[in-house]
Amino acid sequence: MTFTKEKLAQLDTFLNQAKSVVITAHKSPDGDSVGSSLGLKNYLQKLGINATVCHPDPAPDFLWWMPAYQEILNYEEHKSETEAALLKADLIFCLDYNSAGRIGKLDEILEKSTAKRVMIDHHRDPDENFCDLIFSDPTNSSTSQMIFELAEAQENLSLIDSTIGSPLYCGIVMDTGSFRFPSTSEKTFLVAAALKKAGVKHWEIHEAIYDNNTENKIRMTSYALLQKLVILEDYRTSYLSLDRSEQEQYQAKKGDTEGLVNQALGIKGISMAVFMKEADGLIKMSFRSKGGIPVNDLARDYFGGGGHKNAAGGRFIGKIQDAIAKFEEVLPLFFEKNKEHFS
Ligand code: 5GP
Ligand code: MN
Repeated sequence: MTFTKEKLAQLDTFLNQAKSVVITAHKSPDGDSVGSSLGLKNYLQKLGINATVCHPDPAPDFLWWMPAYQEILNYEEHKSETEAALLKADLIFCLDYNSAGRIGKLDEILEKSTAKRVMIDHHRDPDENFCDLIFSDPTNSSTSQMIFELAEAQENLSLIDSTIGSPLYCGIVMDTGSFRFPSTSEKTFLVAAALKKAGVKHWEIHEAIYDNNTENKIRMTSYALLQKLVILEDYRTSYLSLDRSEQEQYQAKKGDTEGLVNQALGIKGISMAVFMKEADGLIKMSFRSKGGIPVNDLARDYFGGGGHKNAAGGRFIGKIQDAIAKFEEVLPLFFEKNKEHFS
């Protein structure tokens, strides 16, 4: 059990003693990090606790509809305000990440803070020294589902309305690939049902996430699939890459490459897909797999990253051609090691 009586009592003590609460989440915000942040913020509000959400950088615009999104401080655009909020805090929630390496420059400020830290996260292998109180559940579909389960464990489900439920539902949908990944449990569906009962208009959320593409995004996706897709049949693997000039050609915005790697995975006979993208002076690698192929091992062992078994990320410092060369070099090793899962 994640939310044990003892740990919940400890959390209560922290919340009762806190005068200033901040909620943080990982760099390059996604549906789950923003959804869990705002779900928790709006939940704490119902308990009479004001919390400020501080993120390392802004989220893609298809997430801006979430209740209280405009109140999020992001360090990239509001350095001094974000720093002041973090340094003033005496309680900091760390959501959807489990070590200092996932929050970019925000880490330097977090290091200066003396606040108590509470982690709520579903990634494997949490850094045990990073937080004072750790709620870690790697079997959970999402951190957003964990926020629901926190409210449930605190016997506060009656407080959940659509301002809490909509961000949480969005986080669950995005981290489960719309309820399709194996991490989607019976409980995930029960939580979704409870959120619907609480007033969440699920169709509006799916539309906001998936039916909101710009023409440029669709054209860049088409270009990548038509011109850049590489199939390595022997390894049941596909990969795609987009360098900076290709992204500029389509005026790519944050989030415009979201989902591209899943299209490369959606090919019959393909068990693993990779997307490599030049961004912020490095190559961001996105890995996806079907079945038992542990792409988090691949991300961790060769690309300084990690994540989940079927969805992971990492990075490569250098040119995109060199990232591709490195991937092609390590692929046979990874394939040999995990051969039984590539079928
Ligand atoms: P994405 O490919 O969408 O950026 O990331 C897929 C998954 O991998 C996400 O669940 C994210 O938490 C995880 N992930 C992405 N990049 C990293 C990384 O650099 N380190 C770790 N540990 N996990 C990552
Ligand atoms: Mn997550």
